[in-house]
Amino acid sequence: MPFPVSFSLEPVRRFFRGHPRVTRSLELAVLPLEAASKKLAFGCKMCGQCILHETGMTCPMGCPKTLRNGPCGGVRMNGHCEVDPGMMCVWLKAERRSRWMPWRGAILRIQPALDWSLKGSSAWVGLMIGRNGKEAR
Ligand code: SF4
Repeated sequence: MPFPVSFSLEPVRRFFRGHPRVTRSLELAVLPLEAASKKLAFGCKMCGQCILHETGMTCPMGCPKTLRNGPCGGVRMNGHCEVDPGMMCVWLKAERRSRWMPWRGAILRIQPALDWSLKGSSAWVGLMIGRNGKEAR
C-alpha cells in the first residue's frame, strides 16, 4: 500500500522544487529536531530516506549490514545477528512489530537502493518535497 500522504503533497512539492532556498532554510530548521527526536526514539542514523513506517517503526539502518529489504542469510538460531551476536536481528524485530501496524503489508515492499548522498539530510523534508527515492518505484 503506497504511503497515502505522497499524493496530497504534490502541490507542496511543486512549490518547494521551485524554491530551493526556502527548502534549504526549512531543512536547516527541521534537521536538529528530526535528528534529536528520531535518534532518541528509534536510534535513527539519519539516512535521509526514512522507511520506519514500513518496518514496524524499526530503523533498518540499525542492521550492521544496513540491509533495507529483509534479513541476510546469517540470522542465528536464537534470532540474533551474525555480525553482532549480542543484538537481536533488526529484521526479526521489524517483522514482529509490523504486524501491529494498520498498514502491515508495507514491510513486503521492495525498497530502492539507498542514495548515500542523502545521508545526513532531513527525511521529513525529503518526504515533503519528494526526494526520498520512492518515486522510482
Ligand atoms: S530509516 Fe533512515 S531516517 Fe528513518 S530512522 Fe532509520 S536512519 Fe533514520
